[in-house]
Amino acid sequence: MRRRESAAQAFFHAARCFAVAVSIRVRFRHFLRLSQGQMNLGTINHCVYCGTRDGPFSDEHTVPVALGGDRYLENAACETCRKITNDGFENACLSIMLESQRFHLGLMGKKARPKLKIGIGEPQAGFKWKHVSRDKHPLALVLPRLAEPALFTGHEYGETAQLAGLWAWREENVEAILQEHAKESGGQKARFFQPFNFHLFSRMLAKIAHTEAIGQFGEASFRPYLPPLILGKTQAVARYVGGNPAIPGGEAEKHIEWLTNSVSFGVAKPLLTGMPALLTTAIRLFDSFNAPGYVVIVGEALRDFPELEPGTSGGA
Ligand SMILES: [Zn+2]
Repeated sequence: MRRRESAAQAFFHAARCFAVAVSIRVRFRHFLRLSQGQMNLGTINHCVYCGTRDGPFSDEHTVPVALGGDRYLENAACETCRKITNDGFENACLSIMLESQRFHLGLMGKKARPKLKIGIGEPQAGFKWKHVSRDKHPLALVLPRLAEPALFTGHEYGETAQLAGLWAWREENVEAILQEHAKESGGQKARFFQPFNFHLFSRMLAKIAHTEAIGQFGEASFRPYLPPLILGKTQAVARYVGGNPAIPGGEAEKHIEWLTNSVSFGVAKPLLTGMPALLTTAIRLFDSFNAPGYVVIVGEALRDFPELEPGTSGGA
């Protein structure tokens, strides 16, 4: 056991020599409501995931419109890849995991009829879902805290170990609403539940990082790591997607009516010569809720990024 540990330790140090994140220029972008104009980051005319030049291509948003995203790459996804990203993880993330939050925050169309649910009873003993109306459903949010990307730490863990904990936020009236449901259900326990799959969530983060990096810097600026992960061809998600230890998430006001997200970039520089510098993305969805931040390693930097050096001005 001891020997195994020391071998892991040695690898850890080797990996730390491979790449160490340096401080970065932070670019905050705020995505508010759906009504905002949409910004074209560039016309691609091939697929940014599989590389095919056989169209037709659809536009690819960086942060999904369903989370208030207002930036896209024009003609950037082939039909096959668009279906994979939609059906593979975006629908699950946006229409199942984050459905009730989107509804409460006005990020669904006016005609949307989300299935707002409250859990009644004990999970082990006859737990039931109860469909409830909007005024009887609380706004609450749970997001994962993830371990740092494995490429940074050298821990080659599976996806289970990627989860480092949970962060939760709830509006002030949550307890009162749940107590009312408990009373109506003859004293059974009522709970807010949010289905969550952090593997699919991580793939959504990867897609945001990949497309936003292309929009910011162009495809020639980096050798991409993420397309196989986005397309579900590898399970090694934790290698490139993880938590941002600088932003663990914290307390926020208990009444929030708007959503902001932030995306920023940095370069992780190797300590050893001959190793590649890595282009990294820091993403914080639900920024306005003081939610946890994430880091995604986009790929190998193929040029210098003087605009990302510490101390340079820019961003706001
Ligand atoms: Zn494609």
